[in-house]
Amino acid sequence: MTVVTGESDATRAYDVLVVGSANADLAVRVDRRPGAGETVLGTDLVESAGGKGANQAAAAARLGARTALLARVGDDAYGELLLDAQRSAGTDVRHVRVEGGARTGTAMIVVGPDGDNAIVVSPGANARLSPDDVAAAAPLFAASAVVSLQLEVPPATVRAAAALAGEAGARVVFNPSPVPDALDPELLAAADPLVVNEHEARLLSGDAAGSAADRARVLRERGARSVVVTLGGEGALALDGTAPEPVAVPGVAVRAVDTTGAGDAFTGALAAQLAGGAPLVEAVRFAVRVGAASVTRPGAQSSYPSPDELPS
Ligand code: ADP
Repeated sequence: MTVVTGESDATRAYDVLVVGSANADLAVRVDRRPGAGETVLGTDLVESAGGKGANQAAAAARLGARTALLARVGDDAYGELLLDAQRSAGTDVRHVRVEGGARTGTAMIVVGPDGDNAIVVSPGANARLSPDDVAAAAPLFAASAVVSLQLEVPPATVRAAAALAGEAGARVVFNPSPVPDALDPELLAAADPLVVNEHEARLLSGDAAGSAADRARVLRERGARSVVVTLGGEGALALDGTAPEPVAVPGVAVRAVDTTGAGDAFTGALAAQLAGGAPLVEAVRFAVRVGAASVTRPGAQSSYPSPDELPS
């Protein structure tokens, strides 16, 4: 079943191409975070599929969008885990390269007593996703309606992907996370939309005192074609290319169990809807429901909904 509401561009074989990271999430809960030089005991280790790129691809594919992932994993058990998760979501993984001698990216997550996460990421094979990998996948860009980018792979690779998407006439959804010190002007100019959470909006706009709407306007003035600010349980703001004011899309009230990967569920869903021709505000309305569904279950990809699991 597909969720795309508009006319899919039938001339393109893929709705969404995600270029980005794939990480194994290794999570342990603790009663108290260890300080320097300290050891504490935690719960059993939970291993699950994560990484911003892989998460967004899984979210889009689970919703029925024709999705491909361009990424690298290592030739280890975590690489297999990540590939299996993508296959079961329905992603085309023929462009996920299994790198001999490299470790799969891992995120070591310590979950504190209040559900607050402290995370260390080891990029592993993600650091080797190169501009040459992008160039080698040029036909894939030409075959995709939307290209979704984040910043967990080398900046030169993300720039190459944005440039190739532009040449191929694909729409770029850009989620600048982890948040950089400064936004690359070319990436900003390609973003349609730039997708940021409240924290990213504050840091990237440099507007400490303003509202989320003010920050969205600042980011569009700086060059983004359109801007989406996610607001956790409050929903999201959508500021398209010409509107004077952002449209506020309210959140969906759910019992939140685990918000890991909610932003990626949102972004993958947004990309899928835009690929189907939905206007930005309509796509954001749908993505807010997908984000809400994802927080009702534990984990990142393991929490992503199919269309029949969405709250109304
Ligand atoms: P991030 O995960 O990047 O920090 P947000 O926290 O803004 O991003 O969440 C992204 C989206 O996930 C929101 O726009 C919303 O749709 C959904 N979401 C997140 N937290 C909740 C919540 N507590 N209740 C309902 N929806 C939520």
